[in-house]
Amino acid sequence: MNAFSLTIPRTIKQALDELTTPKGGPGKLKAGGIDLLDLLKEGIEQPGRLINIRRLDEAPQALHEIGEVKADAIPEGVWRLLPGSNDGSPPPRRDCLRIGSLATLAQVAAHPLLASKVPALTESAADIATPQIRQAATVGGNLLQRPRCWYFRSSEYQCAKKGGSVCFARDGENDFHAIFDNQVCCAVHPSGTAVALTALDAILSISSPQGDKFVRLSSFLVSPTQPGGAIGRENRLEADMMIHAIWIPSPGPGERSLYRKVKQKQSFDWPLADVAISARRKPTGNKELEAVRIILGAVAPVPHRARSAEALLLQSPSLDAERLRKIGQAALTGAIPLSRNGYKLPLVSGLVQQAIAELLS
Ligand SMILES: Cc1cc2nc3c(=O)[nH]c(=O)nc-3n(C[C@H](O)[C@H](O)[C@H](O)COP(=O)(O)OP(=O)(O)OC[C@H]3O[C@@H](n4cnc5c(N)ncnc54)[C@H](O)[C@@H]3O)c2cc1C
Repeated sequence: MNAFSLTIPRTIKQALDELTTPKGGPGKLKAGGIDLLDLLKEGIEQPGRLINIRRLDEAPQALHEIGEVKADAIPEGVWRLLPGSNDGSPPPRRDCLRIGSLATLAQVAAHPLLASKVPALTESAADIATPQIRQAATVGGNLLQRPRCWYFRSSEYQCAKKGGSVCFARDGENDFHAIFDNQVCCAVHPSGTAVALTALDAILSISSPQGDKFVRLSSFLVSPTQPGGAIGRENRLEADMMIHAIWIPSPGPGERSLYRKVKQKQSFDWPLADVAISARRKPTGNKELEAVRIILGAVAPVPHRARSAEALLLQSPSLDAERLRKIGQAALTGAIPLSRNGYKLPLVSGLVQQAIAELLS
């Protein structure tokens, strides 16, 4: 591990000043430190300065708090990105859930308001790592953790993601790697909360020296083959930025969500595959859906949206075994497994079928 200095700012401005000062080499934010310390130990990150943001707090924009914000009080940047805004006209304002980026996974998992409104998120947080880790790990850090690909994590392999020329996993030990979008880098996105928050169409507010920015999580996370993507990164966060909070449109009547995960070992583990679904029923009362998002995790460099399965599910409210099988199959559209991860095809298909049946039964 390289030598570094440690600073403990009290305000966001101080943290951003620390990030951007050229003195003492590049700075790196440390939240819970669970991922960052691993990366430092393997020499994958070598910052000259660590900036501990755990003690930052600034009312009324508290970084540790979770709550609901009334429609007329949400920031304009969040409002503009709410659902319904794709045609350029302003979307209707609505209440939003707000989670400070420094809220811990334990806080998220146990929060009664989140559990009642967005169970996909609390279920994903509750299934991450161990109780001790969840007490320290933050939701912002969870979204920004680096992939678990063993070639990337080992200092002995200079893989393409670290600036080398070879993706060792492509023809190597790729059991836990991507089945979608795996041509450039086969590592999968490791974050469980990212899967749930993408299904819930979450928006990030990001602080930078130029002011606050707002972005949908689904556009913020980016694979190497997507516009603006690069093999060395999994998101669009720049070196002078900090995630401030996560905003989720509060679900209305008829909206439900759920998260399910399959692990190799049941005690604590990253997923072999996970899925989050959010669905909204039409107000007609006949079980027809008017909106659905099915997001698959541990299968691609970023959470993967199963659009073909969504389209099939929207066609009819009937869920007999044959329709479920077809929807599960549709979730695999575009999948190209590697030499050792073909088992993920039936696993993902079955997981999607099980999750849909459970959510809509
Ligand atoms: C045994 C084990 C099992 C695990 N299982 C799972 C699992 O199943 N699913 C899962 O999702 N995770 C799992 N994890 C990973 C763990 O949840 C993450 O490492 C943790 O959530 C990271 O959060 P942190 O606050 O410690 O982030 P840090 O380690 O402090 O930071 C991670 C990165 O985010 C940056 N950062 C942190 N906060 C901010 C911010 N607000 N703004 C800008 N940058 C920021 C840091 O600079 C760093 O680059 C597991 C970890 C272990 C050790």
